Parts: sequence; structure tokens; C-alpha cells
Amino acid sequence: MEIVIIGAGVVGLATAWRAAARGAAVTLVDPAPASGASSVAAGMLTPVSELTYGEEPLLRLGLASRERYGPFVAELEELTGLSTGYRTDGILEVAFDADDLGYLHDLRRFQESLGIPTEALDRRECRRQEPMLAPSVRGGLLAPEDGSIDPRRLTAALLAAGERLGVRLVRERAAAVLVERDTAVGVRLDGGAELRADRVLLAAGPWTGDVEGLPPGLVPPVRPVKGQVLRLRTRVPFLRRTTRGLVRGSSVYLVPRADGEIVVGATQEEMGFDTRVTAGGLWELLRDARELLPGITELEFAEVSAGLRPGSPDNAPVMGPTALPGLVLGTGHFRNGVLLAPISADVLAAALLDGEAPEVGRPFAPDRFEQSEQKV
Ligand SMILES: Cc1cc2nc3c(=O)[nH]c(=O)nc-3n(C[C@H](O)[C@H](O)[C@H](O)COP(=O)(O)OP(=O)(O)OC[C@H]3O[C@@H](n4cnc5c(N)ncnc54)[C@H](O)[C@@H]3O)c2cc1C
Repeated sequence: MEIVIIGAGVVGLATAWRAAARGAAVTLVDPAPASGASSVAAGMLTPVSELTYGEEPLLRLGLASRERYGPFVAELEELTGLSTGYRTDGILEVAFDADDLGYLHDLRRFQESLGIPTEALDRRECRRQEPMLAPSVRGGLLAPEDGSIDPRRLTAALLAAGERLGVRLVRERAAAVLVERDTAVGVRLDGGAELRADRVLLAAGPWTGDVEGLPPGLVPPVRPVKGQVLRLRTRVPFLRRTTRGLVRGSSVYLVPRADGEIVVGATQEEMGFDTRVTAGGLWELLRDARELLPGITELEFAEVSAGLRPGSPDNAPVMGPTALPGLVLGTGHFRNGVLLAPISADVLAAALLDGEAPEVGRPFAPDRFEQSEQKV
């Protein structure tokens, strides 16, 4: 089977690898592979710490993906010989003031009601876990099974894995999906060349709606949600594990890597396709991070960047076959695309090769928005 994938972010790349492993002939089309949100993301693998009221189906998907991460990474690293910086040492979430602590207590009750184990830590235990935390930190929660990965290393390994399995990379923008007799039959590139295929996967992150040729209303709206992050560097041990904090209701996280990088993130801004880094965005991150870990002001500054999370109308991914035969969608992964990469790749490879998404992916089918409109 010939498959063309539009977009080589973490979703397109992971799917290309899994589909090629299942025997498909895959072509990836992207003018700048792995340059979107996947190159900015912190890489927390945290269905539990990111848990939000009303997002239980997403939680289940996140838990299922976290479970697949170990074997996914082991296979990827063995095939390519590249490290992804995968860590499973848990995520600590701490509270700065009494209100923040109250919120964490509520979150813990909610997590427990869903049968998810987290450990409540008092002030002293938080500082025993992370000695650099400010003495004023009130307490926290440990999600022992959460972890992190370096998304830049992950996408580099996925590109290499695809190459090993014969995935062809076309470094050009896809202008349109080719539709003949009400079926998607390939892609037209910006330069005018056409790539024919049995199936097309549209996985262009927040740019998914820019690809032309499709019937109106087929692709649910996907909006860009800006996130600014900064990268610091340390030569001495500073943080043992990913630490998230609530500081007077505002949330900040620090994700350490084995090579000394520490990613501090992230703002969440509805600003359209704006990727400017702003003084205010960075100030907020540094202000809150310093409240939690005063020593960060001593660390070396390495980089600032801003990326665009692809957000669907309900902030959950949009994955699976569409009403247009031959066209599969893989977008809308919002804050969780790195976490959801293994499961999305399996769901999308099945949608492409078997014509339907497996059970676990069904709640995220593209037609769910049509259905809710009809009900209204
Ligand atoms: C600041 C920040 C922090 C984040 N932290 C985390 C985290 O800790 N954990 C987590 O799980 N997720 C995190 N995310 C979310 C995660 O990064 C995204 O959900 C994920 O990267 C989405 O992947 P994607 O492949 O859909 O899109 P992208 O990575 O944006 O890739 C889209 C690709 O499509 C290509 N493209 C666009 N238009 C076309 C076209 N017409 N033709 C061909 N190619 C095209 C682009 O060049 C790009 O390479 C974070 C995101 C941000 C911004």
C-alpha cells in the first residue's frame, strides 16, 4: 500500500515508522521536518500530572500511550542506535502557597476517584526529593509512573528509523490533497508535482486547515496555541526529576535532561500563528521558576523558543478515517502530542492500513464534532 503523510512532526514521523514497519510504502512530505511544536516541546510524559476535570477519555488515552512508551522507545533505540533521553523517574508537582496546596489536594482526590495512584508529600519530603526547592514550598504530589523524553532526540530517532525502513522524505510543502471521484488519491506539492497514493494522512499540526482541495467542513478547526519555553544549562546536578509547580495559581515546570539541559515552560496563549518570544512571557516563566527554585538564576541561559500546539475544539486529538475515503486525519494533539505519539502511531497506522481505527482510538474520531452539532 502506498501512503503519503503530510507533516513530519512527532505524529507524522511516528506513524510513518509504524506504517512502514507494517509493510507500507510511505512518503513523508514536509518542507522542514520536525520543526513545529515537536521541536519546542518539553517532552513530559504525564497523563497524570496534566489531568484536567472533564478530560477522562484523554486521560485513558494518555495512560495507554504511557504504557506503550517503554517498548516503543526500546525498539526505536535498538533499530537506530540513537538515544531519546527517555526517563521514567516520576514527576513531582509542588504548591507554593496555601491556595495552590488546596488545588493539589483537590487534584489528588480527583485522581484517586479515577483509581490513579499518586503520593502526597509534605514540605519536608518535597525538599528531600528535590533539595534545591525553596523552603517556602508547602507540599506536593508525586506521580511515580510519569516521566519525560527529549522530543528533539525522539524526532531525530524517528526520522532515522523511517529511513532504515525505506520511508521517502520529500522536503516540500503539500499544497492540496488530490481528490478524484470523491476519494483522496494523493497530494499536490507547492511546486505542482503530484504524489499518488492509496491513502493520505493529514498530520500538519496547527497548519492542517491550510491544505486545500478538501470539502468544506471535513477537517475540524485546529487552532494554534502558543507556548514559550526557555532552555537553561547546568554542569552540576540541580534537579533530579521533572518538577512542576503551582505558584499563586500560575503553573510552571522544569524538565531536566541527562546532558544538563533544563527546559522551563510554558506559556499558553491564544495568539494565532504568532511565534514571537516576548519579554513578558519569559519574565513570567522566570518569576515563577525562581519562586520554586531560587538557584535557577545561577544557571547558564541556552535558548528561548515559541511553538504552536495544535488545539481541536475539545482539545483532544482528532485521529482516524474521515468521511472522504482514502483520507485519514492525525492532528489536534494540543499539549500531549509527545506523550500520545506511540498510541497515535498505532491508531493511525491501523486507520491507514486496515481502514479503521482500533477501539482505543474511536472516541477521538474526526466525525465526533459533526455528531455533536447534529444533536444540538
Ligand atoms: C511549549 C510547548 C510545550 C509542550 N510540551 C509538551 C509536553 O511536555 N508533552 C507533550 O506530550 N506535548 C507537549 N507539547 C505538545 C506537542 O509538542 C504537540 O502536541 C505535538 O508536537 C504535535 O505534533 P504534530 O506532529 O501534530 O505537529 P508539529 O510538531 O507542529 O508538526 C507539524 C509538521 O507539519 C509540517 N507542515 C505544516 N504544513 C505543512 C504542509 N502544508 N505540507 C507539509 N508539511 C506541513 C510542519 O513543517 C511541521 O513539521 C508542547 C508544545 C509546546 C508548544
